[in-house]
Amino acid sequence: MTLDYISHETCLLHRAPSAHPECPERLQAIEQALANSPLESRVKRIQAQPVEREALLRVHDAAYLDQVAAAIPAPGGWSILDTGDTYLCEHSLEAARLAAGSMVMAVDRVMKAPGRRAFCAVRPPGHHAGRAFGMGFCLFNNVAVGAAHALAAHGLSRVAIVDFDVHHGNGTEDIFRDEPRVLFCSSFQHPHYPGSGADTRSDHILNLPLHAGTDGQALRAAVEAHWLPALEAFRPQLLLISAGFDGHADDPLANFRLREVDYVWLTQMVVDLADQYAEGRVVSTLEGGYDLPALGRSAVAHLAVLAGYEPGADVGG
Ligand SMILES: [Zn+2]
Repeated sequence: MTLDYISHETCLLHRAPSAHPECPERLQAIEQALANSPLESRVKRIQAQPVEREALLRVHDAAYLDQVAAAIPAPGGWSILDTGDTYLCEHSLEAARLAAGSMVMAVDRVMKAPGRRAFCAVRPPGHHAGRAFGMGFCLFNNVAVGAAHALAAHGLSRVAIVDFDVHHGNGTEDIFRDEPRVLFCSSFQHPHYPGSGADTRSDHILNLPLHAGTDGQALRAAVEAHWLPALEAFRPQLLLISAGFDGHADDPLANFRLREVDYVWLTQMVVDLADQYAEGRVVSTLEGGYDLPALGRSAVAHLAVLAGYEPGADVGG
């Protein structure tokens, strides 16, 4: 098993004017942990390409795309997209187009070669971006762009998204609220930012609101009870992961108590479902994760499973 690792150096150029948790060092922490692990030989590095406007228009309104483009500041300047935490610099549009484009590439690659898996090491993240809004550090909804591309360009009729970021994937839910070909599973701390998701009632949106302090055992029990039966009944042809690692016990932005081993378990669950129903096709993309050492270790644990290491294998990092 070779794992495509899709990234681009321009994703490092998107940055805030001052210290911000969603920083370029996040990608560097993953790179460094990967370089220090034996996974390097199983990873095929691929340069991301920018998304086409057509692929963005499947999930975002044209007016919103124009709003983002218009908000990009002149070189050396800064601007804010929402009420405070979603900043833009001169490189932000290019980085966001590469982040979304990486998902299109990843979906195309895994659809061409059954058994191939891919991870998009990109930023800005995406799952808080809805059809007509950006928020929560997110400009374009990368995972949604990938899912919509799989439906439209590859003719799939059942795509599952597993979002284990500690925050509700409200943007992804907004985009696919009326799209039953997408089964969206989001686990998140509640109550917590962005405050949505606990009251959603839908047979293709499976939200798991969990209280602060939730540990791996509780999360696994909830996933086994609420997601697994639905995912098995859905028989997804492709599985996508919104891989946020901010549920880690060391993360400063939330209060779950997950460990690397829990990300191994979650990833293995997705891989097993993909092997059973989707000819092994899995595409994962980075969302949150703000404690740099925990992010590096958790992402490498996630990558190890995607690359076919057995659960529990010591991959270092
Ligand atoms: Zn998050």
